[in-house]
Amino acid sequence: MADNRASAFYAGLSFVRPDPTGPWGTFLEQIERVTPYLGALAEGAETLRRPKRTLIVDVPIEMDDGSTGHFEGFRVQHSLSRGPGKGGVRFHPGVTLEEVMALAGWMTIKNAAVNLPFGGAKGGVRLDPKKLSRKEIERVTRRYTSEIGGIIGPQQDIPAPDVNTDAQVMAWMMDTYAMNTGLANTGVVTGKPINLGGSLGRAAATGRGVFVIGCDAMRRLGVALEGARVAVQGFGNVGSVAAALFAEAGAKIVAVQDSRAAVANPSGLPAAALLAHARNNGGVAGFPGAETIEREAFWDIACDVLIPAALEGQLTAARASRITARLVLEGANGPTLPEADDVLAGRGITVVPDVICNAGGVTVSYFEWVQDFASYFWTEEEINERLAKILRGALRHIWETADLRKVSLRTAAFIVACERVLTAHIERGLYP
Ligand code: GLU
Repeated sequence: MADNRASAFYAGLSFVRPDPTGPWGTFLEQIERVTPYLGALAEGAETLRRPKRTLIVDVPIEMDDGSTGHFEGFRVQHSLSRGPGKGGVRFHPGVTLEEVMALAGWMTIKNAAVNLPFGGAKGGVRLDPKKLSRKEIERVTRRYTSEIGGIIGPQQDIPAPDVNTDAQVMAWMMDTYAMNTGLANTGVVTGKPINLGGSLGRAAATGRGVFVIGCDAMRRLGVALEGARVAVQGFGNVGSVAAALFAEAGAKIVAVQDSRAAVANPSGLPAAALLAHARNNGGVAGFPGAETIEREAFWDIACDVLIPAALEGQLTAARASRITARLVLEGANGPTLPEADDVLAGRGITVVPDVICNAGGVTVSYFEWVQDFASYFWTEEEINERLAKILRGALRHIWETADLRKVSLRTAAFIVACERVLTAHIERGLYP
C-alpha cells in the first residue's frame, strides 16, 4: 500500500513536498482503497487525485511595530463537480499546501457523503495566532481575502471557520469581499456572527454533530450512553462542545488532551468547569480535581469512546494498538493514518470517519447559505432538528453500505461520496 501511495503521490503532483505519509498521502491512500469498489466509475478516479485549482498567495501586512510581515496563504478547490467549493480556512503554524490539498479533498468527500450541494475546498494561512495581535490577525484576514477574492463568492466557493478562525474572522472576510465587489453579499462565507446573516446553532454544530453521530453509533454497537467513558483529544470548538453534550447526556469525560498537556479523572471531568479553566489558564493543565498526565499517556486511558478532535495524523498505528476504546469518533479532519485504520479494524474497533462524524459544521453552514439567499432565518430548534435528521440519515446509508460491501465505515463513506462526485463529473462531461 505504501508503494501505491508513493507512486500515486508522485503522479502529476511533483510540485508538492513528496511525503506519502503526510495528509495528502493519507487522502491518496484513501482514494486508492475505495477505487476497487467504484466499478465503471473507477476510471474517473484520477480526477480525485488532482485538486481542480490550487492558489498560493503572499499575504503581506503591516505589523504593529511598523515592519512588514509576510505570510503564506492557500485556497485549494479540490472539486467543483457537485456545486460551489465549500470548506473552512485555518490559521496555524503547521499549514502547508499539501495539508490544505488534503483538507480540501476531505471536504469534497464530506459534502458528497452528506449529500450537500457543494464541491470541496479549503484554505489556510501559515501563522501562529498566539504571536499576532488581534489587529494583525484582522489585517492578515483582509489581505488574504483580497488575494483569494477572484475565486471565492456565494456561487463559487464559500469559506467558513476552521482551526483558529471564528465568527469574527468570517465577519472581516465578508466585509472585505463586500468592499472589494460593492456587493453586500453575506452568503460569501458561513459561520458569521448572527447579526450579519449567521445561522443559529452554527458555532456548536460540529461538536453537536459528533455527539449526534456518536449516540447513533453507540446505539448500533450496543454501547450504553449512560456512564460511557469518553476521552477527548483537542479542546477547541469541536472537542469542548462534544464533551459538554456527552457529559450532559450521562457519559463521563475521563480524559482531555490539548496542545500542551492532558488531564484525567476516571470518575469524570465537569466539562463546563474544565472549559472555563482552559480559557483562563491557556489550557487544561492544572485543572483542580483531575490528574495532569503526560500528553502521550492520554492514549492509554481506559475508555469506551475516543474522540480525536485536534489535528491530522494523530492516531498512528502505534497509538491505535494501545487505545482501549470500542468506538472512535473523528471530530478532527484526517486524524487517523491508513496504517492505524488497519490496526483498529484488526482489533474490532469501529471508526466513524471524519467525513461524516464532523460534517455537522458544514451542514449548518449549508443551512446558513440557504438562509442568506432567502434572507429568512430559522429557529435554533429547527436547525438542530434538521441537522440531526441529515446526519442520522447519512450515517444510516453509510452503515448499510459498509454492511453490504463488507468494508469499513470510512471506505463506505468514500464509496457513497465518490459515486456521487464521479457521477456528477461524468454527467457534466469534459469542457471543451
Ligand atoms: N471547517 C469545517 C470542516 O472542516 C466546516 C467547513 C464549512 O462549514 O464550510 O468541516
